[in-house]
Amino acid sequence: MAITASEQRAISKAMNLELAAQVTRVRLGLYRVPSTSEEGVTWTVAIENGTYSCTCRASNKPACVHRAAVYLAKLQATGAKVVGVKPATRQRLAQAA
Ligand SMILES: [Zn+2]
Repeated sequence: MAITASEQRAISKAMNLELAAQVTRVRLGLYRVPSTSEEGVTWTVAIENGTYSCTCRASNKPACVHRAAVYLAKLQATGAKVVGVKPATRQRLAQAA
């Protein structure tokens, strides 16, 4: 599955904010994610036939941090560990390669 640049940015932001840990599962295919900018506001992410949709103001955009957070939370629920590589580690890895 190819990930677009905007999805990549949304996933990076969700990881930086540790938003996956704040995802609440309503039922299968329906999740709630807190707003990252407005206190007490929650957006709903729905997954239908593998397509993610969100009720936030970026809902018309190809990706948002809420959809990315649900994507990450679902990955983590399968037992996968999703980690970011810190810049210093990235440099070490690049030098070792
Ligand atoms: Zn959203």
